[in-house]
Amino acid sequence: MTRLAHGGARLETRRGVEWFVREIPAHRAEKAYRCPACGQEVPPGQAHVVAWSAEHLFGDDAAVRDRRHYHAHCWRIA
Ligand SMILES: [Zn+2]
Repeated sequence: MTRLAHGGARLETRRGVEWFVREIPAHRAEKAYRCPACGQEVPPGQAHVVAWSAEHLFGDDAAVRDRRHYHAHCWRIA
């Protein structure tokens, strides 16, 4: 079983924790989100990054439900 089952997400390690990361292109960014890194809005139409834990306590399905949308810049420096 591959852990890359989530539609082209890649695996990244941040502070010792593995995350699935997917790039959302501008034309797919249809809603506004609150970036958890800076607390500012990610406006619709802005390319950004969605990330969720690969080590979620309740498994991958719960992790996908808890995924967060970050500014691309905020994710890079996080
Ligand atoms: Zn941000």
